[in-house]
Amino acid sequence: MQSHPLHSKLTTLNSKLAGTIKWDRLHQYLYSTDASVYKRNPLAVAFPKGKNDLQEIIAFAQQHKIGLIPRTAGTSLAGQCVGEGIVVDVSKHFTEILKIDPKQNTVTVQPGVNRDALNQVLAPLDLFFGPNTSTSQYCLLGGMLGNNSSGTTSIRYGVTRDKVIAVEALLSDGSEVVFKPCTASEIKEKAALPTLEGEIYRQLEEMLSDPKTQEGIRNEFPEASIHRRNTGYALDVLIDQRPFTSDGSLFNISKLLAGSEGTLAITTAITFALEPLPPKHSAMLALHFKSIHDAMNAVVPVMEHHLYTCELIDKTILDCTKGHPGFKEHRFFIQGDPKAILLLELRNNDKEILASDLQKLEATVAASGWSYAAVPLWDEAIDKANALRHAGLGLLGNMIGAGVFMMPSTLASFGGISIIGWIASSIGAFLLAKIFAHLSKMMPGTDGGPYAYSK
Ligand SMILES: Cc1cc2nc3c(=O)[nH]c(=O)nc-3n(C[C@H](O)[C@H](O)[C@H](O)COP(=O)(O)OP(=O)(O)OC[C@H]3O[C@@H](n4cnc5c(N)ncnc54)[C@H](O)[C@@H]3O)c2cc1C
Repeated sequence: MQSHPLHSKLTTLNSKLAGTIKWDRLHQYLYSTDASVYKRNPLAVAFPKGKNDLQEIIAFAQQHKIGLIPRTAGTSLAGQCVGEGIVVDVSKHFTEILKIDPKQNTVTVQPGVNRDALNQVLAPLDLFFGPNTSTSQYCLLGGMLGNNSSGTTSIRYGVTRDKVIAVEALLSDGSEVVFKPCTASEIKEKAALPTLEGEIYRQLEEMLSDPKTQEGIRNEFPEASIHRRNTGYALDVLIDQRPFTSDGSLFNISKLLAGSEGTLAITTAITFALEPLPPKHSAMLALHFKSIHDAMNAVVPVMEHHLYTCELIDKTILDCTKGHPGFKEHRFFIQGDPKAILLLELRNNDKEILASDLQKLEATVAASGWSYAAVPLWDEAIDKANALRHAGLGLLGNMIGAGVFMMPSTLASFGGISIIGWIASSIGAFLLAKIFAHLSKMMPGTDGGPYAYSK
């Protein structure tokens, strides 16, 4: 193992921790990637047990001028958990559901709580946490906050930023803060504090009160109607709050932490708003298309129907499941050889209303003329169809490709080479077809599978 000047100091740090810190080659290798194509060997990987450990690690990083990379499940797609500093894995010891408040419909969790596991606990209370990534079985709520994650249900339940109410975190000097909704007088009190927290409130207030800054943010940030938009820090959300607008919600820095990818603070607890469980009956329409372009054009009219989910399976993924014994029974609804399928889901507690909504959707689809077949699905048929779509990115990730422009090391070790695409995180449905056509032109001769989009 190559020695690093800080390794002896890490031994001292380790001795101060209730948890542990590792810097052997295996740990460096295991934590050198996330689910993205990026790779960097970290200096070390810490498994902190409690806030004191985190404060020791922060002090060490400050003293030696090295970065900290918080991490939960590491399913980030853009290298958020990759870096040369210390990876701080909070998935091992920050795993408690701290409080459920069924009267206020809120839950407070540590960052290492899994999204699906939380929903299992909440189900008997008729409550659930809405944002639903394809990785919901694995991903953890600290990471969902860090990435402002959304997913299949975002058109109904929004993104993680919409759900966060308060965040307990440690700042870069190790101080503990709670970011939550603040009235004007509370902002003043905070801004008067002679601490880093006070400095944050002072600077944000000063910067965001400036009309020129506000104008710049309003002009340059993406449309607020596109709620799946992660384009840097969410300053556009802050200026829509009081005191910067008279009718906005209360100023709440926890909204800024959503999507900040672990760069502003280390989260130790999060309070989220919950939803009543979704209506119990669902119906699905599986639209079949002769081109991906037609599928993307069809999104605009069908979105008028208050869908619960609207998901694409393209030919690349469909072909991966052809002849695969595990997916044979899931392909029962496919007619012909579609270039793309859109799965549109409606829900209602009343089956008759649901059937009538489905008919209306079918009428819109028939009138628009984009698809060549529309297959209605009910009950367990829906789960089977969804399983095809869920398999998608895993199958794509294991594709051996010809037009490769990046090679994730995790796959390379198995001899696989992947074509990694892009995630369109800030475009409206009305632009999908145009942007996809443009990107296809930019990469002639390459092949790929568009995956997972939401409004
Ligand atoms: C197959 C696949 C499908 C996906 N589908 C979707 C999808 O449908 N929708 C979607 O939005 N995303 C999707 N993603 C991306 C990713 O799964 C999600 O963003 C997920 O919520 C990340 O959770 P995680 O626990 O893996 O977080 P990580 O990747 O571990 O971390 C995410 C970010 O949060 C930060 N972070 C973690 N813990 C803390 C903490 N305690 N304090 C401060 N910062 C912290 C990290 O530094 C990082 O920047 C997908 C990824 C894959 C591989």
